[in-house]
Amino acid sequence: MDFSLNDEQKQLQRTVRDFAQTEIAPHVMEWDEASRFPSELIPKLAELGLLGIIFPENYGGAGLGYIEYAIAIEELARVDGSVGLIVAAHNSLCTNHIYKFGTEAQRQKYVVPLAQGKKLGCWSLTEPEAGSDAGGTRTTATHSRGGASRTGSGWVLNGAKTFTTNGHYADVCVAMAATDREKGRHGISAFIIEKGTPGFRPGKKENKLGMRASDTSEVVFSDCRVPEENLLGKQGDGFVNSLQVLDGGRISIAALALGMATGAAEAATKYAKERKQFGKPIAEFEGIQFKLADMVTEISAAQLLVYHAAWLADKSNANGGGIRFTRESSMAKLYASEAAVRVANEAVQVFGGYGFIKDYPAEKFYRDVKLCTIGEGTSEIQRLVIARHILGKQ
Ligand SMILES: Cc1cc2nc3c(=O)[nH]c(=O)nc-3n(C[C@H](O)[C@H](O)[C@H](O)COP(=O)(O)OP(=O)(O)OC[C@H]3O[C@@H](n4cnc5c(N)ncnc54)[C@H](O)[C@@H]3O)c2cc1C
Repeated sequence: MDFSLNDEQKQLQRTVRDFAQTEIAPHVMEWDEASRFPSELIPKLAELGLLGIIFPENYGGAGLGYIEYAIAIEELARVDGSVGLIVAAHNSLCTNHIYKFGTEAQRQKYVVPLAQGKKLGCWSLTEPEAGSDAGGTRTTATHSRGGASRTGSGWVLNGAKTFTTNGHYADVCVAMAATDREKGRHGISAFIIEKGTPGFRPGKKENKLGMRASDTSEVVFSDCRVPEENLLGKQGDGFVNSLQVLDGGRISIAALALGMATGAAEAATKYAKERKQFGKPIAEFEGIQFKLADMVTEISAAQLLVYHAAWLADKSNANGGGIRFTRESSMAKLYASEAAVRVANEAVQVFGGYGFIKDYPAEKFYRDVKLCTIGEGTSEIQRLVIARHILGKQ
């Protein structure tokens, strides 16, 4: 087994690290305090290829795999989790849903500009009444044959989605809606909705504990008419396809957690060497050393799970999608996110009172990282997924 990064992966890591230091680090607190989406960063992320990192070059992407994707998200999140989240929702949720389940025409029309970063994507599954139980989707899509006053047959969407990352800024939205209520989970379909489509608008922007520079919004459909060809995947497969999309998405949330944990641990280590109490650096106290040792051990354990899941995802893609990695991506997301919360908590502790103060980085990691135990399936849901696999129910 060889867990070392190859030269190209090391180069990517250095490039994204430098980018994060120069383009993101100076603005992190300003964006956080103002809860401001960093629009100016989007073309720069596109230029680096990060908005199409996992898609083939002939679809406008960088042609890299999930290991490289995890490395890039980690490096962004090491400096600012919000930027990592913007990139993750765009790549592994919106664009990947179209890439995996779209027709060739949909791939050409949507994946190419999304992967090139000319357009930004969002993905709407969650609803106010359908969170962990996303099978309870209430937004509806009704088939319409068209008529004299209409342009042609298509679908009419009605309802509201909540908690959509990039909701206000996305040019392309993939949303799940019930096309046949009686069929439950198998009556939910996916649709592609373009910004500017009449009846489609972003709603309330959430004011959040953390990840404040990423946009989390309601998305509203009122008699929103989309053409026939905007049905994504087979009718009734939207929910089942979403579960596969989440297999990849959870690796990115795990990498996001890993990046923030690394950032918090590095900040705590640096501070522990500088801060003096009782006449010596606090790093010389065993109580502090044990915290640093636990942080780095948990980060390393999380990293192995994340890279293993990413490696399996790459193997699956190389194999035409034949290998499922649901259990491994859930395990990576569960462990990495919970470990990252513990690491960020201990980082605040190492900073003492200054850990509570916004002039130092620890409090922001502590606030931001909690999202990773919630988004793309809570820790409880990951445990359910893993248990189902252990018990042979899937
Ligand atoms: C910042 C942010 C960004 C997000 N981005 C997106 C996005 O881009 N697109 C999108 O579709 N969604 C997004 N989400 C939504 C996110 O995926 C949901 O919040 C999450 O799945 C949980 O749903 P919920 O909030 O309705 O909680 P609920 O489902 O109401 O859960 C509440 C509590 O009950 C527990 N629970 C629920 N069911 C069970 C069970 N069967 N067994 C044990 N415990 C259970 C949960 O684990 C949790 O602790 C985002 C959320 C946030 C906060």
